[in-house]
Amino acid sequence: MPNISIDVLDAGKITLPRNQIIFGGGEELVTVPVPAFLIRHPSGDVLFEGGMQPDIKEVLGELPDYTVDYTQENEIPEQIRKAGVDPADLRYAVMSHLHWDHIGAIGHLPGVEFVVHEREWNYAHNSDWFIKFAYPLGQIDRETTKWSFIKSDLDNPQHDLFGDGLISTILVPGHAEGLMAMLVRLDSGPVLLTSDSVVSQLHWDNEALPFYTDAPAAVRSVQMLHDLCEQEGIETVVYGHDLEQFETMERSLT
Ligand SMILES: [Zn+2]
Repeated sequence: MPNISIDVLDAGKITLPRNQIIFGGGEELVTVPVPAFLIRHPSGDVLFEGGMQPDIKEVLGELPDYTVDYTQENEIPEQIRKAGVDPADLRYAVMSHLHWDHIGAIGHLPGVEFVVHEREWNYAHNSDWFIKFAYPLGQIDRETTKWSFIKSDLDNPQHDLFGDGLISTILVPGHAEGLMAMLVRLDSGPVLLTSDSVVSQLHWDNEALPFYTDAPAAVRSVQMLHDLCEQEGIETVVYGHDLEQFETMERSLT
């Protein structure tokens, strides 16, 4: 078996009103993690999720309810270096979606090919009024970044990155128009990285919906992932922003 593993990266934390994470969740402030993942693959290493950006505090100046716990140590290139990899050697940087707390790596990994779903790219550049603030185009449209686009659809939502079945993206719209989860087949069993299609355990258990949502699409995406877990025997599911899970999970999955 080829050697494949996942390092869990810590791209900081956000404190925000609960209703920004859970639809109808009230104004109480909650703190959530911003995880990212470095997937080691024999044909090249892959970043999944871009974390926050170095000037995030200024970007959030217009959102007074939000505060971030983010230092230089949380920058994605720094996290990758800490895991023992030269950021310039990455094969792909896969962006699950283009919301502000998932795109910090854009412009900070010179020479690395960035990957996003075509639907998400198009929506980010033509978003609706209520969600525009979440797509900072100044950060997304960095000229130095080269992009490639995944075009899977709901009939065939998976895209196999290296053609060997080990790392696949899965189109899971709802929270974002072109949101992608990722399935990684480790030696010990498959791991599902949901990104914000499943923000926390509450969403996975169908007890809440994420905010900024096409609700029916979000619910169907969670159901599709439940079905996939059953078909593929997936036992490890890593959520998009679940503090309890993030603080107790292994930092290296093999
Ligand atoms: Zn999001």
